Amino acid sequence: MNSKKADIYAVQLSLSSSAYILKFRHAFGIAHGTRNTTDTLLVKATLNGVTGYGEAALPPYLGYDVKVLCNSFGEYFSDLPSGMDGIQTVLRMIINSNLSIPSPIRCATDIAIHDLCGRLTGMPVRKLLEIPDAKDVRCSFTLGISSVDEMLEKIKETEGFTLFKHKLGGDNDRERILAFKKATNASFCVDANQGWHSIKEAATEINFLTEQGCLFVEQPLPVAMNKQLNELRDKIKLPIILDESIQRLSDLMDLAPYCDGINIKLVKCGGLASAKELMRIAKRSGKKVLIGCMSESSCGAAAASELSGWADWVDLDGPLLIDNDPFSGVSYKNGMIVQHETPGLGIDPIAVI
Ligand code: MG
Repeated sequence: MNSKKADIYAVQLSLSSSAYILKFRHAFGIAHGTRNTTDTLLVKATLNGVTGYGEAALPPYLGYDVKVLCNSFGEYFSDLPSGMDGIQTVLRMIINSNLSIPSPIRCATDIAIHDLCGRLTGMPVRKLLEIPDAKDVRCSFTLGISSVDEMLEKIKETEGFTLFKHKLGGDNDRERILAFKKATNASFCVDANQGWHSIKEAATEINFLTEQGCLFVEQPLPVAMNKQLNELRDKIKLPIILDESIQRLSDLMDLAPYCDGINIKLVKCGGLASAKELMRIAKRSGKKVLIGCMSESSCGAAAASELSGWADWVDLDGPLLIDNDPFSGVSYKNGMIVQHETPGLGIDPIAVI
């Protein structure tokens, strides 16, 4: 064994967490309400002087308090073995914990460990995960619920994006869609965030959207109406992608017959390893896969983008929606995330975290 390897096996893996408040560039409106900030949980994993970073953004509807998560963080990963054994132990704990470790802690820690492993081995995380490079996977730009004028201003600020995601469930949905169609030739999809409360209302709105050229509809009905989705699907022609309804693998198994695809977010499933498994099973079941985010910084978006090679669409514009990103390294070109060749996630901290 050479001396470098001996060093790594002797040193202790160190994990730490911190809270950070992401500030939106514009107020962000969805069917759950409008907000100006999002709390996010950041995790650092350090071994032998090399640090990996992870994140789990916490929009209020998830119901987590970032300070409570930070205060309890140390309880979950104590007495770790040294060196690479510590890394393997943490990944095993995350996979096997089921729900005993809160999902945001699993997510941010899993991402930090993958970033660390990439940095230690000199490989981009997607190569570690054996996910192919993404080719021509369009990234959508999100347009929240707002006035028509605000929406048109936001479109002017985007450059190169050819796919937009409209958040619906406001009182001017149709007005915004018609104004969007007049302003641009770009494609669009929609996310109702459970905002339609009957089959009739959802079918009426979706059939209007079909006439306007919409590509797919995300989460049209409340989670409580999951088993009524086929009644809706019989009345419409657009693919239904489920987000809030599918949090984990067991939900996918249960709801596969009721949808056409799934929105996979790292914070929902608890990190990259679980997300990869969910994607594999979704694709095998013939489902479309959208890789989504929770208005994360570049850290969470970079991690999710490592899975792009297996995705049909990616919705990872979070870094573009905030103005105090604590990381650099994510860039967009021609409406797609640029895939990096640097070790780990390809990001670097630019704020004290
Ligand atoms: Mg969604």
